[in-house]
Amino acid sequence: MADVPAECTIKVMCRFRPLNSSEVARGDKYIPKFHGEDHVVVGSKPFQFDRVFQPNTTQEQVYNACAQKIVKDVLEGYNGTIFAYGQTSSGKTHTMEGNLHDTDGMGIIPRIVQDIFNYIYSMDENLEFHIKVSYFEIYLDKIRDLLDVSHHCFFCPQGCTERFVCSPEEVMDTIDEGKSNRHVAVTNMNEHSSRSHSIFQINVKQENTATEQKLSGKLYLVDLAGSEKVSKTGAEGAVLDEAKNINKSLSSLGNVISALAEGSGYIPYRDSKMTRILQDSLGGNCRTTIVICASPSAYNESETKSTLMFGQRAK
Ligand code: ADP
Ligand code: MG
Repeated sequence: MADVPAECTIKVMCRFRPLNSSEVARGDKYIPKFHGEDHVVVGSKPFQFDRVFQPNTTQEQVYNACAQKIVKDVLEGYNGTIFAYGQTSSGKTHTMEGNLHDTDGMGIIPRIVQDIFNYIYSMDENLEFHIKVSYFEIYLDKIRDLLDVSHHCFFCPQGCTERFVCSPEEVMDTIDEGKSNRHVAVTNMNEHSSRSHSIFQINVKQENTATEQKLSGKLYLVDLAGSEKVSKTGAEGAVLDEAKNINKSLSSLGNVISALAEGSGYIPYRDSKMTRILQDSLGGNCRTTIVICASPSAYNESETKSTLMFGQRAK
């Protein structure tokens, strides 16, 4: 750990995507009204965040505001977590991953990977780096290793594959591998990804071979399950169980984050699988950024408001 103690920092950003083609085709009204860099009004209700990104904001601008600082901190030995929260199709995966193989379209994860390796390449020879990544999902409170389909059910992420990587290309290949494993395991990927949380973990260990000084930091990058209420999909049976489970895990995440934001003495990490897993990278000395993703369409107004309320609780 770095020796400068720092208070827990939680940043909440909010990103609106553009109206999509079906919203445009339906003639949906565009509802957010943006004021300055940190305010948005939805249905006459004002919300304030650390930053609000309008639909035309580029992937690079989002990265610079949401992640660049955390990467610096991880390279100095801090832990951190970045979440994308929002209803299905609000832009979570676009924000976290985007297009992994396109310079402009890359989301937060590939940009982080590039920044980490650029840093490594710029350092002097006395520094030795070990970068390892894991990639798993949490579905119905079970962990599935996305880098090893042969044994993909665990109760703690320590069982997951850790892949040592030496270049950004290797990391992108690893993510592609995990994504295709995820596809193989399910019949409908869109439905599945809206009901499971996917977590990409990067560990950076460095050692100065001259002074033997060691530093270690890790980062969790979380694409959360869709936050929409079940009633909209008219769910029953297994689907309803899934929905209840998601609801419970997202609300326990909300409770942990608001307890941290309030500086409460008791943080209810143990209330869900995800908060237990993230415990050592949430709170304490850790850096946390939540990106609240939202649709600008009037059709989604009530979901958008509850999404924004979730983000507001963390402030
Ligand atoms: P989610 O992961 O929240 O379900 P996605 O990230 O898959 O949503 O986004 C749904 C669709 O909208 C995708 O086709 C995505 O490319 C597009 N999209 C999302 N956010 C943006 C944005 N900011 N700009 C342009 N297209 C976007
Ligand atoms: Mg998604």
